[in-house]
Amino acid sequence: MSQPISTDAEAGLSVDDDWNAIFVDGEWRSVADRDRIAVKNPATGEQLTEVPAGTAEDVDDAYEAAMEAQADWAAETPGTRGGVVRRVAGLLEDHEAEIREIMAVEGGSPKSKQDIEFGGTVGLLHDVSSYPLRAGGEHNESNIPGKENMVLRQPAGVVGVITPWNVPMKLSFRVVAPAIALGNSVVLKPAEDTPIAGGLLLAKLFEMAGLPDGVLNVVTGDGETAGDRTAAHPGSDVVAFTGSTNAGRKVAKNAVEHFALPALELGGNNPHVVLDDADLDQAVDAGVFGSFWNQGQVCISINRHLVHESIADEYAERLAERASELEIGDPTDDDVVIGPIINESQVERMMGYVERSVEQGADVLTGGERDGLFVEPTVLTNMTNDMAAACNEHFGPIVPVIPFSDDDEAVELANGTDYGLAGSVHSADRGHARDVADRIDVGMMHVNDQPIHVEPHMPFGGMKGSGTGRYNGQWIIDELTEVKWTSVQREPRTYPF
Ligand code: NAD
Repeated sequence: MSQPISTDAEAGLSVDDDWNAIFVDGEWRSVADRDRIAVKNPATGEQLTEVPAGTAEDVDDAYEAAMEAQADWAAETPGTRGGVVRRVAGLLEDHEAEIREIMAVEGGSPKSKQDIEFGGTVGLLHDVSSYPLRAGGEHNESNIPGKENMVLRQPAGVVGVITPWNVPMKLSFRVVAPAIALGNSVVLKPAEDTPIAGGLLLAKLFEMAGLPDGVLNVVTGDGETAGDRTAAHPGSDVVAFTGSTNAGRKVAKNAVEHFALPALELGGNNPHVVLDDADLDQAVDAGVFGSFWNQGQVCISINRHLVHESIADEYAERLAERASELEIGDPTDDDVVIGPIINESQVERMMGYVERSVEQGADVLTGGERDGLFVEPTVLTNMTNDMAAACNEHFGPIVPVIPFSDDDEAVELANGTDYGLAGSVHSADRGHARDVADRIDVGMMHVNDQPIHVEPHMPFGGMKGSGTGRYNGQWIIDELTEVKWTSVQREPRTYPF
């Protein structure tokens, strides 16, 4: 039987606190008879805590609480709903040091990653706090005399949220906060490696901000059990999934089975295209950041560098020189740029892509080695689009440099993937860059920049195997609300019989 472990909303946010519980109906439940998932510091291997491996029954309890709480929450004023989100933003800022420590020791996030994830989350929450008054509706004319047409917006209902470990706090908040602001209730299943930053921390912050019981529920656990049930539960109206394309396919089937909307943010294989007339300094600077931020563990990081053959060698050499200078180590040291990879299976997967590419004929210009969970920034040349590190989402600090001969070939290579998430194109001639950029099938394209760029009011999402729908601004408001056409007949209507 579940037991509450704490009802003290001020109990603190330190990584050393007791996080060994799920959060359902406003209670911290220790669910003592469940298996436990060990949460480890990827830089040191030290175990930080354990969390419950939530069961399908735990998820069912969470949905029951969410369904019970939703209507009353939706009936609160926009000011009340937005106010809770604004208070969470303030609490984040009050607890910045503890939250940065969680990001570093649980998620392996170097300072540059913490800065952007933390600052981006606070900015997002401020924007989201205005959603309740921005959700809007419409008033339309009618051809029927005396009829008034309105399009009303109401919350979708209960939103199931499943998130990954790579930018866990931001990727959970980017759905949970809009869902709550718009009057929905939520069941959140964070990733196994980052259950604090991606889940329990949000529960604590919303609890501290005064969110009513049951509006946000967090069940830790693995994908096959707690995740599967979160997507399959008939009580969900939207299933918002961020993660791999393979898991997303299963989640979508589960959601559609009970007619929930699948909102899917999936993998990427993002091209950084450097045209023959590019400013090489700028293209290399962008390429270094876009490949190595958070060790390349980002859905929108550069997966392939497509470079005109006339400058490909120089580009690769300059990038390799910069890569070899990046400080690798424990991300609690502020000078570190390259922290650990999140876990052993991720390291094995990306090193496998490097090894297979070398067998296929690629050369390692720099890097190529690992030490525990630390992977050296690696630049690969003599690459083609079909080699393992190029045709797969490597999700690591790996730079495959692939030459092309003209714009048509650049576009063909860029589009030669099942994904369509993000990309960038460099040219000193902005018109030339636009001509190429417009032909690349991605949801987010950045000219003379790199693809790791997010703004809370701009649409985030991809085409093809990268998912469906868009997050942020009006786009997420559309996904998390239902429109309801209501007509009012102001004078008696004449019918044909
Ligand atoms: P993953 O798909 O293995 O796991 C993501 C989440 O889904 C985890 O919480 C996991 O427990 C859960 N899950 C796994 N299998 C499930 C199932 N069958 N049913 C329900 N839930 C399940 O992905 P990951 O390795 O944690 O994250 C990396 C992937 O996420 C990469 O492909 C990356 O591109 C993608 N990603 C996409 C975005 C985006 O916005 N498009 C952002 C970040 C990460």
